Amino acid sequence: MFELNFVLGIIYMVNENMLENKKVFVLGMARSGYEVSKLIASNNDVLITDAKEQNVDHVEELKNLGVKYVVSDTPEDMLDESFDLVIKNPGITYKHPVCVKAKDLNISVVNEVEVAYNYLPKDITIVGVTGSNGKTTTVSLIYEMLLKENKKVHLAGNIGFPLSSFVSKIKSGDILVIEVSSHQLVDFDKFKTDISIVTNLTPTHLDFFDTYENYVDKKFRIFNHHTSDDIAIINLEDDLTVEYTKNIPSKRRIFTSQNRGHIYLEEDEIYYGDELFINTKDIKLKGVHNYENVMAAILAVKNLGVSDETIKSVLKDFSGVEHRIEFVKTINDIDFYNDSKSTNPISTKVALRAFDKPVILLLGGKDRGNNFDELKEDLKNVKNIICYGETKDIIEKFASDNNIPCTKEDVLEKAIIKAYELSNSGDVILFSPACASWDQYNSFEERGGEFKRVVDSLK
Ligand code: ADP
Repeated sequence: MFELNFVLGIIYMVNENMLENKKVFVLGMARSGYEVSKLIASNNDVLITDAKEQNVDHVEELKNLGVKYVVSDTPEDMLDESFDLVIKNPGITYKHPVCVKAKDLNISVVNEVEVAYNYLPKDITIVGVTGSNGKTTTVSLIYEMLLKENKKVHLAGNIGFPLSSFVSKIKSGDILVIEVSSHQLVDFDKFKTDISIVTNLTPTHLDFFDTYENYVDKKFRIFNHHTSDDIAIINLEDDLTVEYTKNIPSKRRIFTSQNRGHIYLEEDEIYYGDELFINTKDIKLKGVHNYENVMAAILAVKNLGVSDETIKSVLKDFSGVEHRIEFVKTINDIDFYNDSKSTNPISTKVALRAFDKPVILLLGGKDRGNNFDELKEDLKNVKNIICYGETKDIIEKFASDNNIPCTKEDVLEKAIIKAYELSNSGDVILFSPACASWDQYNSFEERGGEFKRVVDSLK
């Protein structure tokens, strides 16, 4: 406790925007609510609420720090004008009764990243990555390259490590690489990066943002407060991002897989400043989408003093992040891939493009109004579709409209067994569900874990 207060005391001297003597309503616990409550508990009066019971050790720890914890289906009943601030979990929409009431009462609503940002030393370098797909792969590449170059670097954000949990570890001069979701960008105010990347933009999460325009508008908050000293790394194939960033003050650095930019892909070679940088055979990650992530990462780290030698050695070994077109194993000459992180058809589309062998595709999950027609152009190697879960009927119709044999199952395990029965030597069985996991799982990690367990049990 003494050590924590001491550390916080030091940070205190350099940050004037930290919370102090405020009455704070934390809406939603999970990891981020828990971490931010811990961060602010010593100087503020904190109430945390969640609809479900939470990890008992975490609850106990918060209670010991003086945080009030209440499980409630109607948390809005506890919000009144005596509160100064609401910190909401990024996944909760602004239509939530607490947010609506806060607005009526003129109480600001912010998220965990924005709060934690105010506790960081001012002289660190922040690399922020957002976009519809490729965020985790890109931040992981950047982090690995900086680490290998012996930089003091931290990886946080939407990747599963709330920024609040890093505050006491990040010191002056360090580099913070942060994955930012559109849900987090929505209520950014002071948060500012030194280098921002938008990997690509596609209309996902429409259930959260209502319209594509609203979604896009929020995404561009990643360039907030940029000056001519800051860098915007953008994808030339993304018309909206190109258009939006035309007049921002930051230096624009462009990557592209189809044209010419500061870094570009031509056939199987990547050029930096028109000079050959690396051949894709020397990059372990595969697929054009991954080469786009690689190019974005190279642009970022070249600005942070990472040598070409270090970049190339990371690219040679980095095999990707779990659940993203992850090779699981080969059984009887059939390759199994886990792409459970594919929660929308665009990422399934890129997964399909990464294979030139016959594919048995496993699709299904939560129905969020996804349109599978986006997959149409990339079905040439797909010999069978096996579908399961809430979206199985829609997928079955999609398969029939496209003349692909399809089998319907209730659960993933049966879908895997069926796929294996139908497979021949030389096939790929690809689990790239194109849907969120929440109809049958708590997370895409749990879903991918199940896929790997079932595959492991096959003979
Ligand atoms: P995110 O963190 O944005 O969800 P990930 O790196 O975790 O992105 O990848 C998620 C899924 O998106 C994976 O299934 C992968 O196949 C696909 N993907 C990764 N990078 C890209 C990209 N640059 N463009 C399109 N799809 C991508």
